[in-house]
Amino acid sequence: MKGWTSPGFFEQQVRHIQERYNPYSLVGLMKYHSEHGRMPSHAVVITVDDGYRDFYEHAFPILQRHGVPATLFATTGFIERRLWLWPDKVTWMLEQLPHIGQEFTLGSITIKAGDINDARRRDIWEKWIDHCLSLPDKDKHEFILSLASKLSLEFPSEIPKAFEPLSWDELKEMQDAGIEVGGHTVTHPSLGRVTKNEARDEIFGCRDVLNQNLGQQERTFCYPNGQPSDFQDFLPDMVREAGFLGAVTAFPDALGINNRYLMRRHVSGDDMFQFYKAVSGVELLGHRARREYRLQPDASAA
Ligand SMILES: [Zn+2]
Repeated sequence: MKGWTSPGFFEQQVRHIQERYNPYSLVGLMKYHSEHGRMPSHAVVITVDDGYRDFYEHAFPILQRHGVPATLFATTGFIERRLWLWPDKVTWMLEQLPHIGQEFTLGSITIKAGDINDARRRDIWEKWIDHCLSLPDKDKHEFILSLASKLSLEFPSEIPKAFEPLSWDELKEMQDAGIEVGGHTVTHPSLGRVTKNEARDEIFGCRDVLNQNLGQQERTFCYPNGQPSDFQDFLPDMVREAGFLGAVTAFPDALGINNRYLMRRHVSGDDMFQFYKAVSGVELLGHRARREYRLQPDASAA
């Protein structure tokens, strides 16, 4: 979605990082920091979330070719094919619909009757996704089921090919080749809207499944969705207690990587200008110059 990159651009970016920077996996960077008491110079970490199969098909060969490590954050319930990621369900529903027969309203969003072209599909997709993001996990899944029932659609029991996860064998092969497989919870809920017990099940449960299937390893963690509203104050300590060596958000601000359990990330996609801004640190300097803190500095103090 947000950081989608096509293979051609990704290869250019990986080559640029390999030529001018010091690429690490996130766990590799954390280990360097503990050994040396400081970060290596010009370090860059490439991270990819969720665990889709296209990472193995497209990104992994490129990373291998250039000898660049990376971190892949895997949602373990998705890898085990017990669930598909909910935005994909929204995408799938819209793909099934050439036409909406009758106007309907659900969750304060009204969809008018008529044909669905690409622009309209995009527009409806964004409205539904935004609405889902505003809901607690359970309500979100109920909303998606109500949508499917309104549209007389039934989700296939197998995850469709376009949205398939990596297999454990593929993950193991990549881990052996220097790709860190980090944690990204079991079911990918917003951790900003769960109880402490639920958060614990998601964080510790994901760690256990990764270690059972890929062997005991040091790993890092990524908060699902990763926006300021997806946090609660107790989370960094819980992630540390689960043994993860660090954790990342999905937004950048002036704090950069000051807090090891709330390290900010910069988006990269097919926009090479954005890529250069992110990788060179110019974007971070901008946030610092404007003193932008999207999570309170107090809440983020290491
Ligand atoms: Zn994710």
